[in-house]
Amino acid sequence: MKKTLALLLACISIATSSHAQAKYKSYQDSIAAEAAKLEVWTNVPEVVAGNFINDAPSDAIILYNGKDFSAFHGRDGKKIGWKIDPDGALTDVKGAGDLITNQSFGDCQLHVEFRTPANVKGAGQSRGNSGVYLMGLYEIQVLDSYKNPTYSNGQAAAVYKQHIPLVNASREPGNWQAYDIIFKAPLFKEDGSLTSPATVTLLHNGVLVQNNVKLLGPTDWVTKPVYKKHPATLPLFFQDHGDDGNPISYRNIWIRPL
Ligand code: MG
Repeated sequence: MKKTLALLLACISIATSSHAQAKYKSYQDSIAAEAAKLEVWTNVPEVVAGNFINDAPSDAIILYNGKDFSAFHGRDGKKIGWKIDPDGALTDVKGAGDLITNQSFGDCQLHVEFRTPANVKGAGQSRGNSGVYLMGLYEIQVLDSYKNPTYSNGQAAAVYKQHIPLVNASREPGNWQAYDIIFKAPLFKEDGSLTSPATVTLLHNGVLVQNNVKLLGPTDWVTKPVYKKHPATLPLFFQDHGDDGNPISYRNIWIRPL
């Protein structure tokens, strides 16, 4: 009798947990379906080969020079989990957390070099995904977009889900690439309404890919952009996208507040 009861209870518990799993899966699917509505798969940018100069100007603030990550901190007091490779590359580790600058910035010129893994794993958004989040809110997508179809407004050098790059200047995975970003922060009135939107000009490997585009608000996977008043300067961060076996690396990061 005892055995029957135990068996019955086990069956109920399995049924309950599989019901909860199914419910969670359908919840995840509904979010993914919402997020897919913001994807644009047309206007695929033409492929262009570029080049870049990586020397920092004399007045630049060096955020990363291959030696330490003293310019950054982890989110919510979490220790930085990124590692510094023998060649000086700052490499993401799954679950390492976002890399947030200690200093806050608004208008700026930002130089960032990144490398997606030579050993290609995954596809689409799961291939070397990271991001440069200006003011922690506005993402310039970092992705391996070399022969890697995904939605055009989510490929490398896109202002995520807002502006498709003019061309695709991505290099083969395993090569260093550069973004040179000129960013103007949004301005707000006292009452919180927008005076002028944020703008971005972006050179990808020396090629102009975003030409003074106006941002519609903070970038997001699911939510449509809506501006909300924020301070004139905020920390920027580099995204830990959390993909398995796709460690993005950064080097030579410098910024000039404008
Ligand atoms: Mg990203």
